[in-house]
Amino acid sequence: MILPFIPKNIQIEISNRCNLKCPLCPCGQKKALREIEDIEFDYFKDIMKELEKYDTKIQLWNYGEPLLHKQIIPLLKSIPKKFSECSISTNGHFMSKEYAEAITSSGITEVIFAIDGITQETYSKYRIGGSLAIVLENLKIFNELNYNRDIKVTIQFIAFKHNLHEIPLLGNFFKSFSVNEIKVKSAMLMTTDENNDLEIAKKYLSFNYDGERYKIDNLKIVPKGNFLNYCPLVENSLVITTDKKILPCCWDYEGLYQIKNEKNWISIKNLINSENYPKMCNKCPIRYGHIFSWDWDKVPGIIY
Ligand code: SF4
Ligand code: SF4
Repeated sequence: MILPFIPKNIQIEISNRCNLKCPLCPCGQKKALREIEDIEFDYFKDIMKELEKYDTKIQLWNYGEPLLHKQIIPLLKSIPKKFSECSISTNGHFMSKEYAEAITSSGITEVIFAIDGITQETYSKYRIGGSLAIVLENLKIFNELNYNRDIKVTIQFIAFKHNLHEIPLLGNFFKSFSVNEIKVKSAMLMTTDENNDLEIAKKYLSFNYDGERYKIDNLKIVPKGNFLNYCPLVENSLVITTDKKILPCCWDYEGLYQIKNEKNWISIKNLINSENYPKMCNKCPIRYGHIFSWDWDKVPGIIY
């Protein structure tokens, strides 16, 4: 057994390498503090074997671009067609005909393209180093291979100060791309750097926006809502990293709370739900009762 328990939701980090430098992402900012590597293919197959008996929701990402895994084609093909929800999230730069073919023949049920801008100018303000033209071309390539539309195609658009005005235009913009859904999400500040938080939040977040998860309080960034004395996620979720660490959530990007067995999982869970909770919980919106993502109330022009 690899897992201490079978969670309702599991995130598997396929590769923690990335071609982009997104400013709120520890991977983009090279803060992930773990070895930069791909998940071992045999280990991935063992996880699939363990999970295929259960209806766990699988997310094939954590930090990094999954399609950069050196053995991505056999890895994708090894995913059994047994899960009702198995999604992969990509920044879209490496989607090719070959990769699209491997995905369409795998057990993946959803491909999420992270695109937070409809012009190169807005897109590259956050996706630093990225090319919107390449991503849109690759989205078309994927859709051509997914002609039966067996796999759900989702656009994930993170709302920032610089792209809020584009939200009402998204439906029209993506009309010709055969997408199934556009999810607008508010940003997460994946940082525990008190000094830098305020500056970065002021640069990227729009505090006039209702869906924003944070507010400024006494010159500090804090999530909206009331701090809970427990974590609503910890009973239901696990993250497996490329270096084979099993972690309680993606906020533990340094891999400090490694779950080694069932007994150890209980003590980590008790710690998270105690008054001595880890520092990473301080600014986690989930600890403030927020849902995992905030979705725009349906994007105009898209048929759901
Ligand atoms: S594309 Fe994803 S993994 Fe890469 S830097 Fe951006 S947010 Fe991080
Ligand atoms: S950071 Fe803490 S509160 Fe947030 S999901 Fe992780 S364990 Fe739960």
